[in-house]
Amino acid sequence: MLDGKCVFCGIIRGDIPAAKVYEDEKMCVFKDLEPKAAVHLLAVPKTHFKLLEEMGDSEREILAYMLGKIPQIARQNGCDNGYRLIINQGDDAGQTVFHLHIHILGGEKLGEM
Ligand code: 5GP
Ligand code: ZN
Repeated sequence: MLDGKCVFCGIIRGDIPAAKVYEDEKMCVFKDLEPKAAVHLLAVPKTHFKLLEEMGDSEREILAYMLGKIPQIARQNGCDNGYRLIINQGDDAGQTVFHLHIHILGGEKLGEM
């Protein structure tokens, strides 16, 4: 379920320190170490998937679960006027941590995409 070499698995286990803002049995949300916006959170499933394409039909249910939780978590952490979700996939997107994660960006007016 968790990967011994993965930094986000280390955060989930509690071996690597992180500013966690939400946690339940399925997911964890913590502050990005190098924030790219006034609020920059990372939401991760508590199962190690590198990429969306690795997930089976039943495993993908975690994504709907996370998307259901994110609005309240975002609001409680300073995104009360909107926010942006980003999932980087692979090298062209600049993915650096290969444990599936949803970036939550907000707390200020974000640049246009
Ligand atoms: P990616 O580029 O893979 O979509 O995003 C990875 C994100 O993880 C980056 O925004 C980076 O700042 C963040 N990050 C990398 N290592 C750590 C860490 O050890 N702790 C925390 N809190 N964030 C990290
Ligand atoms: Zn992992």
